[in-house]
Amino acid sequence: MASIFTKIVNGEISSYKIAEDEHYFAFLDINPLAKGHTLVIPKKEVDYIFNIDDELYKGLFAFARKVALAIEKVTPCKRIGLTVIGLEVPHAHIHLIPINNIYDMDFKQPKLKLEANEFEAIAENIRKAYNEIP
Ligand code: AMP
Repeated sequence: MASIFTKIVNGEISSYKIAEDEHYFAFLDINPLAKGHTLVIPKKEVDYIFNIDDELYKGLFAFARKVALAIEKVTPCKRIGLTVIGLEVPHAHIHLIPINNIYDMDFKQPKLKLEANEFEAIAENIRKAYNEIP
């Protein structure tokens, strides 16, 4: 059965999309630790990130870098933290999280509850910044 993230890529489940190319897709995490918390995935469904083949793996991080630069441009934060967990959704994904201190990466922290229009405004800002990166 297709993963929930494959369904997002295929448009069967809606998401707050940030960016996409032939192989990768980025969208807002629905339970964000911070405004701008984004997930970056390969479109190819692989559960464990370290099972992704070399070329796709390197490309995933290059794609995530551009997304991170876009998030950073429009989000007040010290930098963008990157982590991979993958215990919940069996489709490899990188978390990009705007942070000001180490505790902002703590997944035990309460998640933000945002309205749809807030998610959309955040996604729109990051999308614009992404499209301006050469
Ligand atoms: P993990 O697999 O432990 O890295 O966690 C999966 C992440 O995916 C969590 O942060 C969830 O909030 C996020 N998530 C699950 N379903 C969706 C969805 N439909 N849209 C956006 N994010 C999701």
